[in-house]
Amino acid sequence: MRDFSPDHRWLSINTATLRGAGPLDAIIEACARHGIRAIAPWRDQVAGIGLKRTAQMLRSSGIALSGYCRGGMFTAFDAAGRQAALDDNRRAIDEAKTLGAPCLVLVVGGLPGALAGAPQSKDLFAARSDVRDGIAATLEAARDAGMPLAIEPLHPMYAAERACVNTLCQALDLCDAIDPADGTGATLGVDVPDRAALRVDAPDRTALGVAVDVYHVWWDPALDAQVARAGRGNRLLAFHVCDWLVPTTDMLNDRGMMGDGVIEIARIRGQVEAAGFDGYSEAEIFSSGNWWKRPADEVLATCIERHRRCV
Ligand code: ZN
Repeated sequence: MRDFSPDHRWLSINTATLRGAGPLDAIIEACARHGIRAIAPWRDQVAGIGLKRTAQMLRSSGIALSGYCRGGMFTAFDAAGRQAALDDNRRAIDEAKTLGAPCLVLVVGGLPGALAGAPQSKDLFAARSDVRDGIAATLEAARDAGMPLAIEPLHPMYAAERACVNTLCQALDLCDAIDPADGTGATLGVDVPDRAALRVDAPDRTALGVAVDVYHVWWDPALDAQVARAGRGNRLLAFHVCDWLVPTTDMLNDRGMMGDGVIEIARIRGQVEAAGFDGYSEAEIFSSGNWWKRPADEVLATCIERHRRCV
């Protein structure tokens, strides 16, 4: 396991952590000031200053990406909605490519309409079917672009609104069904003529994998076994950290700074690294009541200190 205590070279900042710090250009400048080597920006933040300007700022600051947030949201009530989701994911792949992201993170979607507060269905099985078909179709575009897709399982409390993939096992089952090791894709209901020919042409990069976020998976009794399974399949594409506060006062926006909650972050990182992951540890803290109210410099200085001591 890598020693993070001497420096923060393996710290990435998910730009959602700095939602209170203004537009993305200000966030990138703040990260550059603190010697942050990688970030994971969100599409709305990129759109806020423009894709071109984002790419220019990343180039001039020498900051890399640890991922791009986010694609997914495949579930829909009708065919037009499903197609709109596929179109949007293709645009996300193009943006990720322009920014040089190592993967596009997928939050797959929950019950159609639920995120807007008006669920149009209670059929979670249909939603999961949409997700499977949506990822399979998007994977073709992803392979063409050489952009790996990282399915992020979300904590079960988000099953209705955001993601009906809720465990690492479920995410890996999807990977194995859509992108089996033998390249056949035979278990899918979609017609892909020659899957093997479409694989990303880089031996050390998988086309379809997972993003492991400690906030979503820390409670899972099968976590260690599933992390090892992900490693065996070369599917560990991203590692996100924050902490689970006790009590948690908001389902979405009350994540804790690393070290302030009850997640054994270092233990989980040890498992992930033992399974072969050697990338960035990405701090992703949604915190409307606390960290979003503080200046960027304070948030970043704290992330750096906690990365070295608690991650
Ligand atoms: Zn995450």
